[in-house]
Amino acid sequence: MTIKTNEIDRVLDTFRAGSRFLITSHVSPDGDAVGSLLGIAHLLRGLGKTDITCVLEDDVPRIYTWLPGADKIVKQDAVTKTFDTSVLIDAHSADRSGKVAPLLPKANTFVVIDHHLVEKADGDLKWVDPTYAAAGEMVYDLYVKSGVPLTREAAECIYTAQTTDTGSFRYSNTNPRSHRIAAGLMETGINIRAITERVIDTMSRGKYNLLQRVLGRIQFGANATVAYADIYAKDLAETGALGEDTDGLINYLRNIEGVRVAMIFREAKDGKTKVSFRTQAELNAADICRAFGGGGHAVAAGATIDAPIDEAREQVLAHLRNHSGLDV
Ligand code: AMP
Ligand code: MN
Ligand code: MN
Repeated sequence: MTIKTNEIDRVLDTFRAGSRFLITSHVSPDGDAVGSLLGIAHLLRGLGKTDITCVLEDDVPRIYTWLPGADKIVKQDAVTKTFDTSVLIDAHSADRSGKVAPLLPKANTFVVIDHHLVEKADGDLKWVDPTYAAAGEMVYDLYVKSGVPLTREAAECIYTAQTTDTGSFRYSNTNPRSHRIAAGLMETGINIRAITERVIDTMSRGKYNLLQRVLGRIQFGANATVAYADIYAKDLAETGALGEDTDGLINYLRNIEGVRVAMIFREAKDGKTKVSFRTQAELNAADICRAFGGGGHAVAAGATIDAPIDEAREQVLAHLRNHSGLDV
């Protein structure tokens, strides 16, 4: 596995040269988005930087609010100052940061750090490497290369990023380097049991109620090799679940014996539908989602389709019929 040393050096040079920083990640932030964003903030502080603004369009999901620095993440409306350096991490197009997007190109240098399968990335300086299991792992390598001592606080953020994006080191993106990084993180004294309990092994009552509904609603196609389910806005309202509680539900579909393709269609704002995709290796989820303006990884991807849920579902099923020959 070759690490793009050149890019790492250029990112670090840019960080060292900058003085006013904006850091953001994607909408509907997951553990890697929040963890890697905060990891960059800790690294910058380690480099002696003091003017650092962390911004996300959405609230930090409750399971990540304990992360060191998460309480300082603000919304774009609270941002009034200017920046010389902007950083987008765990995503590669400014759009993915939602309402934060217009702020990114305003900086002298717009840095993109990402591990998704990318055709074309935004940014003046891009470090994109899909061999990393999580953007948080890229932050770890920045730490190593910079010589900045890794604090326990930063390690907690990076470990959260890793354990969420690798499904606790079980998904196919997990590699020997992931485990070496985890070892380095543990050596700072982090309590991995406490972190796991907070971010993996806890289900809110709302999520439990939602899960019960969604499991009862799974539809199967193509000889039960395809499984999909809908989540409506009213499901959240009626179960007390939050948007963030939909994260991970798709694994229950994917884990059913014989299922090769799992999809969740979720009613989103403004008559749009968010589709989540999980596939086995023979079908590239990122390619399918790119056809709908989204993207992601080979086995886990997503898109937001500008159509109501019934229409969006039909579009996606038709695409699968036409392009993958699946009888759904
Ligand atoms: P999700 O289904 O939301 O868990 O997303 C699965 C993967 O696809 C994650 O790595 C996301 O960052 C990525 N992804 C989800 N939605 C989009 C999108 N609209 N555009 C690009 N990547 C996405
Ligand atoms: Mn993410
Ligand atoms: Mn990620």
